[in-house]
Amino acid sequence: MRTSPLTAAQAGLVNCETCGLLSQPASAAEPGYCPRCGMALEWRRPRSIQTTWALVTAAAICYIPANLLPVLGTTTLGSTEYDTIMGGVVFLYTTGSWPLALIVLIASVMVPLGKLVALSYLLITVQRGSIRSNRERTRLYRMVEIIGRWSMLDVFVDTFTVALVQLKPLMSIQPGPGVAFFAAVVVLTMIAASTFDPRLIWDAGVDKEFRNA
Ligand SMILES: [Zn+2]
Repeated sequence: MRTSPLTAAQAGLVNCETCGLLSQPASAAEPGYCPRCGMALEWRRPRSIQTTWALVTAAAICYIPANLLPVLGTTTLGSTEYDTIMGGVVFLYTTGSWPLALIVLIASVMVPLGKLVALSYLLITVQRGSIRSNRERTRLYRMVEIIGRWSMLDVFVDTFTVALVQLKPLMSIQPGPGVAFFAAVVVLTMIAASTFDPRLIWDAGVDKEFRNA
């Protein structure tokens, strides 16, 4: 019984991930190379689920120190004060720049967490062979990928905040150890999104022989 639309693998065709050409594979075991661009063809990205899980877990671990450790050290008249991301948000809010506080909160706290939750959800539903809301899950994956490209926005937001604070005289700013973990979260989730194979979403309900995740 067919429970989802026909996939390319089911039709005996393989899609080139580089140029998008749908072609006839050389054989079922070894799909060979793309006739148009010469890229090695793959039915599915090898070990996609395991690799993505590993990266998501690593990013989730880094997310904790990224939020707990200070990201900003401000020195005024010899005394240094360290601020975490949330500390920065609270500082911006209490000093009246609530739009900036909201931007930092969304870009630095909510977006990375949202990406981790979304990727975990995609991985779990693929592993459980869910056949529901495939279209929505594909859309969610595209969102995670697009947001990933804009993730460096966080760095701009933080730089912008620093520049604002720097306007005060007799003050100097240094990055705190939290920044390194924060950058790790951004980079790891970006790689995780690229190792996840969205074709797996459509594989549930398809005969086993076409699956080799
Ligand atoms: Zn190609």
